[in-house]
Amino acid sequence: MTRRVVLIGHPVAHSLSGAMQQAAFDAAGIDARYELWDRSALELPDAVAELRAEEFLGANVTIPHKEKTVSLVDKTTDDAHATGAVNTITRDGKRLIGHNTDVAGFTHALDALVGKQKMPRQAVVLGAGGGARAVVFGLVRAGFTRVVVFNRHLHRGEALVKFFGRSAAHMELRAMPWHESVLEAELSKTKVFVNATSVGLDPDETPLPGELIPPELLVLDLIYNPGRTRLMREAEAAGCHVMNGEGMLLHQGAAAFELWTGKPAPLDLMREKLAEAIAASSVAADSGIADVEAAVAGGAATGD
Ligand code: NDP
Repeated sequence: MTRRVVLIGHPVAHSLSGAMQQAAFDAAGIDARYELWDRSALELPDAVAELRAEEFLGANVTIPHKEKTVSLVDKTTDDAHATGAVNTITRDGKRLIGHNTDVAGFTHALDALVGKQKMPRQAVVLGAGGGARAVVFGLVRAGFTRVVVFNRHLHRGEALVKFFGRSAAHMELRAMPWHESVLEAELSKTKVFVNATSVGLDPDETPLPGELIPPELLVLDLIYNPGRTRLMREAEAAGCHVMNGEGMLLHQGAAAFELWTGKPAPLDLMREKLAEAIAASSVAADSGIADVEAAVAGGAATGD
């Protein structure tokens, strides 16, 4: 029987996961198909319930359903429970288990960003959405002692801090108003800076004026557009070490693959296929193609 793994989101046509997951199944000799399910919030409970059937290995969950899925599975792992978000589902008989592999993805990215240096203890995070939750929990778990969250809507930043109340009780986790003077003061005291907002998808936009960026920061932008975001370009010009979100995306996918299959993820192949899909998505965006899979299949990435 061909097994099925689905990505549930709304929309999902832009997803890059299919390219790397399908290649990984094929390379590992696993007879499985990765499908995109575009489901509204109303359709989500039925979509998740369907995964209890034997043909399913599991699922990925993406925007905007990660938080709602927590109450639809039978059990959550520590990472999913701690972040209040599920991005991967596995099946144990008829029981569904909710995981959050974004945390593992972020932890890999953080380790790569820091490299051989001693792990810093202070971070500034921009954003308070689903991505920011995985980031903040990853920082808490990595032993950071001070994390300051800035979000356009302060109340959402405060809600994030409140959510982590207990797991961050031993450290200083604060939400602050998004004012340039406050940001500048905090950035001058920190070592790690993470952009977990969606500002920067447009290459001309940046969440932070370049002149506020001090030198020698370690900057991670969760955005995984090809090339560098404006934030990354300006941070690099200021003397910072920068990284985009591609590594985080790769490693959350690799962790999900291992959970579904019990086999080690073919990381090099997944990295290659993801890079192709990212390149294809930028070609698709430039030429108005809505479906990344179609762009990849059409050879947009490889120039076939
Ligand atoms: P959400 O929709 O949950 O959150 C979006 C965040 O961006 C909020 O903090 C929102 O602020 C902020 N934002 C949006 N527009 C603006 C603006 N004009 N000015 C300032 N802030 C703004 O999305 P996610 O958290 O899931 O994703 C955020 C980004 O991170 C996306 O680009 C996504 O692709 C990326 N990401 C990457 C991952 C990876 O593996 N590399 C994993 C997860 C996310 P407000 O609350 O005020 O609206």
